[in-house]
Amino acid sequence: MLKAPKFVLSRAQWRSATYACCLAACLGFAACTRNPLTSEDSLPIEEEYQPSASVCYWRLDKKAALTFSFDDARASHWQLAAPILEEKGLVGTFNLNTKGIRDWKPWSSLYERGHEIASHTYSHARLPSLRPEEVEFELQRAIDDLTANIPGLKQVLSFAYPYCDYTPELIPIVARYHLSQRAGRATDSRAINARPVDVTTLNCLKGYWIRSPYDLEDLLRVVDETVRSGGWLIVFWHSLARDPSPSDPNTAPLAFFQGFVDAVAARSDSLWIATQGEIASYIWEREGLHLQVGVDRKRNAVKVSLPEANRTVLPIPLTVRLAVPESWTKGNHLLRAQGRRRQQVQLRDGRTLQLELDPGEELYVWAEGR
Ligand SMILES: [Zn+2]
Repeated sequence: MLKAPKFVLSRAQWRSATYACCLAACLGFAACTRNPLTSEDSLPIEEEYQPSASVCYWRLDKKAALTFSFDDARASHWQLAAPILEEKGLVGTFNLNTKGIRDWKPWSSLYERGHEIASHTYSHARLPSLRPEEVEFELQRAIDDLTANIPGLKQVLSFAYPYCDYTPELIPIVARYHLSQRAGRATDSRAINARPVDVTTLNCLKGYWIRSPYDLEDLLRVVDETVRSGGWLIVFWHSLARDPSPSDPNTAPLAFFQGFVDAVAARSDSLWIATQGEIASYIWEREGLHLQVGVDRKRNAVKVSLPEANRTVLPIPLTVRLAVPESWTKGNHLLRAQGRRRQQVQLRDGRTLQLELDPGEELYVWAEGR
């Protein structure tokens, strides 16, 4: 018969273990004095509990998604637009046609500050008029320029067609280079990427083209329609100026942009405002990764896990709703979740928890009596 090995600490080991514990306690780790995952305080899970979890359609269970997108590498993007977005804690997608860029510093600075740098081809070519090998050159050369000049940028996830001009034949070519491509355009609610917004949609995203006349109410009606329908709106801008010439249909007045940013930020309870790359990555993970959920009876915990993403996407946490055991919902229990990091969790509608789960993460959820 096998005997369990007796674990004896030497004096030196004991000292260092005690020291580690004190250090951990000083640093605020609870794990030293009591491992929460094996805590005797954790409530048992009833036999009949069937664990079930689902991924929220949009991150943080928002109703809809919205992206600020900027085409053509204009100076007003980093001079005027980005600071206004950043005041509200927002980021945008900047689609650069790389041929004319002499000074990369403003663009790498945007990337460092959390904005997305995306491709708008090398020379702003009208792709349908090119031969396939010329199309591939335009795509590859832009990627080479971007990754060579933006420190830290390894993958150019997003793409926007110059002039929104594309053909069905181009889509599979671009899909070999980018996770998502923005093709269609409109200036009304037809610009909304309506549900289902899935991996197929990523190959032919639509956008709302900002151009004169600049009617904020009109634009906000489309935003509200996006919220109502639960879709994804990509609003794309060209130049911005404080006092643009009325004859220039593609230079938006800064006050119009500011008004739009304020109005969108005021709707952030219902809108997930993020870059094209972040939202495309979330959709890819939501569709491509299979959530696993089970009960760890030894630990009295529900375990939720997600496999690693096997394609290059931004590692965006998925928002997951978990139905908890009934016994956890009765009485005044403390619900806890621990994966790579600890999460505060609360019941949302009496029976479910909302969790944030990274690809490749295992998350334990348990209840403790107060
Ligand atoms: Zn363009």
